[in-house]
Amino acid sequence: MAVQIERIRKDIDFINKFNASPERGITRQTFSKEYQAAVDYVVKELKYIGTEISYCRGGNIKARLPGTDGNAPAVMMGSHLDTVVHGGRFDGVVGVVTALEAARVITEQKIAHRLPIDVVVFAEEEGSRFNWGLLGSSIWTGQLDHSRLENIKDSGGVTYPEATARAGFEVSDESMLEPEKLRAMLEVHIEQGAVLEKKGCRIGLVEAIAGIKHFDITITGRADHAGTTPMDARADALQAAARIIASVEDIAQEIGAHTVATVGRIACEPGQSNVIPGIVRFSLDVRNPDETVLNSAITTINQTVKDICDNRHLGFEITPLGSVQPVSLSGEIVDLMEEKAREKNIRSLRIVSGAGHDTALFAELAAAGMIFVPSANGRSHCPEEFTRLEDIGLGCEVLLSTVTALAA
Ligand SMILES: [Zn+2]
Repeated sequence: MAVQIERIRKDIDFINKFNASPERGITRQTFSKEYQAAVDYVVKELKYIGTEISYCRGGNIKARLPGTDGNAPAVMMGSHLDTVVHGGRFDGVVGVVTALEAARVITEQKIAHRLPIDVVVFAEEEGSRFNWGLLGSSIWTGQLDHSRLENIKDSGGVTYPEATARAGFEVSDESMLEPEKLRAMLEVHIEQGAVLEKKGCRIGLVEAIAGIKHFDITITGRADHAGTTPMDARADALQAAARIIASVEDIAQEIGAHTVATVGRIACEPGQSNVIPGIVRFSLDVRNPDETVLNSAITTINQTVKDICDNRHLGFEITPLGSVQPVSLSGEIVDLMEEKAREKNIRSLRIVSGAGHDTALFAELAAAGMIFVPSANGRSHCPEEFTRLEDIGLGCEVLLSTVTALAA
């Protein structure tokens, strides 16, 4: 098999010419003119190798290499072309160009396959325009009802269906993705962390995608004079919050097993240097690929909040916000990808994703798998995002041999 990394380089360069923020990183929001130009380029390349293009439900695109069995379920591969605002050159793009290159090699080498092979481009993965991540794949897989789309708007009040129409995207295939139509879904993606780099591995084989739970926590004390209130007569909400926040880090480290917990936002009232803080509100983001571990981390944190506040005679409120279920990817696919990497002498590592991905939504429909390629210094969603072309090439090789094995 002959993956050509020069072609991949050209694809990445070409797609990233379409950028609404050339002065700072890459900004390519779903159905913007830059996004449509990038999609047009990919579609043109996919047509060139003879794929059949479908414009699918939810704004997604599918390019099919028909298999010899017209009724067989498809093996899908791909990712997204939209970016966050001021994002990087690789997030999403890597998964689209590796799928495109794999499809090129399959046609050039006339690799026989019984199952159809589809290259897919998912719309609005990042949620940076419509504030709703994984939107295209959620609609396509039926996890988000079509009727709710009228209420999903960008910051200018344009609804998702309006934006789809304005971009000239005409749905040619309204059908939903169903289990009987799908054998597998594979996605190459940048790691967005630094585990592969640290361990000197070129490929990550994703076993699970972390579940996420968000909370708002409010600590209520009493605002008093900072000069006249003795230390033993205070109800200082920020002193309690500081101890809780410190223990969030300790709890995550103690539990381990891929647990991460973050307090990323804090507000203090009244917020004056000479007044004891009366109310503190902060966010809490806890993630783990295993629901039991995730729940036990949250129980421990909640108990800590209660203990610290009770001790200090403070009030508290823990408000659950959004949550995402953890997803286990296919063990069959991980084993197969591992075997293919070993055959090519590529150092691989079984890994967990702390970020959400479209492929998570396919885990209940078909065998879903993800290949991570290393992110330099773990950076992503920023202009500094970087992955070596050689590593993208290796990801493409593992993708190609896994897809052709599944579709054989
Ligand atoms: Zn992505």
